[in-house]
Amino acid sequence: MLSLPFPPHRDAAGPFNRQPKGIRLNLPMATPFLPAFPAPATDPPVHPPLRDSHGRVIHDLRVSITDRCNYKCVYCRTGEMGAQYPELVIDEYFRLIKLFAGLGITKVRLTGGEPLLRRGLLELVGELSRLRTAEGKPLDLALTTNGHLLESLAQPLKDAGLNRITVSMDAVDAATFERITRVPGSFARVLAGIRAARAAGLAPLKINCVLLRGFNDDQIEGFARFAREENVVVRFIEFMPLEEGRLWTPEIVVTLREILDRVGRALPLTEVPPREASETARRYRFLDGVGEIGIIAPVSQAFCGACSRVRLTSDGKIRTCLFSQVEHDLYGRLRAGAGDDELRAYIIRTVYGKEARHHIGEPGFLKPSRSMVHIGG
Ligand code: SAM
Repeated sequence: MLSLPFPPHRDAAGPFNRQPKGIRLNLPMATPFLPAFPAPATDPPVHPPLRDSHGRVIHDLRVSITDRCNYKCVYCRTGEMGAQYPELVIDEYFRLIKLFAGLGITKVRLTGGEPLLRRGLLELVGELSRLRTAEGKPLDLALTTNGHLLESLAQPLKDAGLNRITVSMDAVDAATFERITRVPGSFARVLAGIRAARAAGLAPLKINCVLLRGFNDDQIEGFARFAREENVVVRFIEFMPLEEGRLWTPEIVVTLREILDRVGRALPLTEVPPREASETARRYRFLDGVGEIGIIAPVSQAFCGACSRVRLTSDGKIRTCLFSQVEHDLYGRLRAGAGDDELRAYIIRTVYGKEARHHIGEPGFLKPSRSMVHIGG
């Protein structure tokens, strides 16, 4: 269990409610690469940028606007559970995001569940595109979607002011894809969505693929070709223990090293230097200059030392790490009538208590009580 560098909040893992809520998984995993942290500061800074007690600047906010989803991806959902958490009204998301932006958040990614299912999405994107950061600049505004409804929404989203989009796609072969999503006809829908997003100028267009051994690891080489043919950046993601059921084992994770070896054997690659320290993906360009892939390796090569993210769940809770054992009820304070100053102070204090790192694969690792689809990936 982590010890917080300052007195815990009332709804944090304080001495009276230290009972972990997660599920214990005692599974070994490769030792993650974890850089040393600077000594904790004594108090959270009161001005932008937002910082945590480990010296990291937090400039990236992921906001789930629903935990409903129209896919039942086999590695994510059991297929028996629907939405689990309430949604805020769109104006409330906007009010909370505006507070974060005033405190130093520069990137906002809307996610879910499936964000394209959410009524009011275009209005929210429009409002957010007019919002300014603490430095008076427009937000970097992105969205993650499964792409099923994207064909007709890509242009309206672009027109509303969305900058970038990431489409999740776990196979390039239609039959494998539909076995994963459990939705007939889904592959054609997503492909049409990807092409519509590209035509609308939502660039660079990224495709996220979570790889699981024995499920879709036969798709690696096909994805490398897909990246080149469709002019998209494919990013392979290591599978994390964040599913609704119990599928995760160290053996099911296809690691960065393995992905690199396999793609490199089919099409030689060269690594591209990171644009910023907090970049989650390691980037590689094909040696002939056509196309790029990325690999996000939170399990085998954890990047917590450079993490710049916090999350807001669909029901308005702040999560300072995907693997947090505690949530911080920002919306509860808003509902109770807290003013902006009070909410800002709460955000600053909560972000300051962000966990140093996750503990995947370590003895005593605890799976969080919410799975990825209910947190907002
Ligand atoms: N519905 C949207 C979508 O499909 O992109 C947004 C939500 S979805 C939970 C966000 C991303 O999380 C998807 O790319 C999905 O593949 C990924 N994801 C889900 N479970 C995961 C896990 N256990 N490990 C790593 N990524 C996961």
